[in-house]
Amino acid sequence: MDYFDLNMRLTEEDLDMKREAHAFAEEVVRPISRQVDLLSAEEAIAPGSPLWTFIKKAYQLGYHTLFMPEEYGGQGLSPEQMNLVFEELAWGGAGLASIIGATCVPFVAACLTADDELIEELVIPYCECRDGSIIGCWALTEPNHGSDYIASEGFFHDPEIRNDLQARRDGDEWVLNGQKSAWVSAGTIATHGLLFCQIDPSLGMAGGGICICPFDLEGVSKGKPLEKIGLRDLNQGEIYFDNVRIPASYMFCEPDYYPEMLELILASANATLGIGSTGMARAAFEEALTYARERVQGGVSIIEHRSVRQRLFSMFTKVETCRCLSRAVIELNFNVSPPIPEYSLAAKTMCTELCFQVANEAVQLLGGYGLTRDGFVEKIFRDTRSALIGDGNNEVLQAYGGNIIAGEYPRRAEDII
Ligand SMILES: Cc1cc2nc3c(=O)[nH]c(=O)nc-3n(C[C@H](O)[C@H](O)[C@H](O)COP(=O)(O)OP(=O)(O)OC[C@H]3O[C@@H](n4cnc5c(N)ncnc54)[C@H](O)[C@@H]3O)c2cc1C
Repeated sequence: MDYFDLNMRLTEEDLDMKREAHAFAEEVVRPISRQVDLLSAEEAIAPGSPLWTFIKKAYQLGYHTLFMPEEYGGQGLSPEQMNLVFEELAWGGAGLASIIGATCVPFVAACLTADDELIEELVIPYCECRDGSIIGCWALTEPNHGSDYIASEGFFHDPEIRNDLQARRDGDEWVLNGQKSAWVSAGTIATHGLLFCQIDPSLGMAGGGICICPFDLEGVSKGKPLEKIGLRDLNQGEIYFDNVRIPASYMFCEPDYYPEMLELILASANATLGIGSTGMARAAFEEALTYARERVQGGVSIIEHRSVRQRLFSMFTKVETCRCLSRAVIELNFNVSPPIPEYSLAAKTMCTELCFQVANEAVQLLGGYGLTRDGFVEKIFRDTRSALIGDGNNEVLQAYGGNIIAGEYPRRAEDII
């Protein structure tokens, strides 16, 4: 379906960018996403897998720099343009789009340091990479800590509760020991990671630090790629650290600024997942609309039934709701500093929930065909189920958002830059 866009301010340049991203999503992302979905997690990352074709093509076209600042080699897109492009990629396949969302995270974070050496050493080579040989990930979750990073309740400051990954200063280096969980997106294919670790145990989880770690250093090892029901085209897996030594400059955030930095990164990730869900919801709706026009029962296309039209309209409304919210939140939170987390939380939880409803309704509208692997809708249904958990279980994010609005809402305009 050729979409009318509710936003009348989009320029010809915006629309061209969106069309280009749509063509890439249709010709490359969608078919490869479906192929990789059918492979085992090991097969998906084996040499010759279509996953590598996707990564190479995406890097050749510069999609890995989608969220990177222009001054360091990024595409220089406005938040609105990032939104338009990322929605299209997720429309093609949410797992592959998530790789694009994850790969840049350590390098975007390195830009925040404004440290010329880090930028020269890490950011510029990443932006210039065109063969997919530099892949990033962000590793927060640990076997013993998932929601703990988000819940932000009293235990965040409890010295008895600590990150598994420990960092110890030794001269000009930091020494890392511990493990990140199997949920790390792009974890087993990444060459670099943004790691969240424990620096000051006396402060509990609030005493954390954030560093960049190249994964070719001695002592880094990876687990097996994770098998799961949804987002099978998104590689995920554990990473282990055994006396891994990084230069001191790679630890760019220490406990004094850790809670704020954690909130900033989570707010950016949650806002982005809002866009991804919009793309998935739109894909499910379009599949349902096409099928309703084609499927004949009782001598007429099922779209002739008033109740079917009503169901389609309800799906359409949910897609547009996702779009409006996710766009508004990206425009806000990619323009202000620091981002305002309650809006990112609203976008993530509402868009993933509505997307899940739309995917479920699409399966129902396609009848038995909706359950088969011949169609695309059952994949979206599985993918969108995962999104209710990824980047934070929705109910935990809602509780966190509730704490914010109970305590600090409304914000004062003068506090926002
Ligand atoms: C598709 C996907 C991609 C991901 N990508 C990444 C990534 O790139 N990097 C990374 O580090 N991690 C990643 N994750 C991990 C993700 O962030 C965690 O799975 C998520 O935070 C939940 O943690 P958990 O799975 O350990 O669940 P748990 O925290 O163990 O939660 C289990 C249940 O307990 C409930 N619960 C937990 N704590 C509380 C509380 N305080 N109050 C009330 N209820 C509570 C939860 O709501 C949930 O229902 C990804 C996950 C998915 C599914």
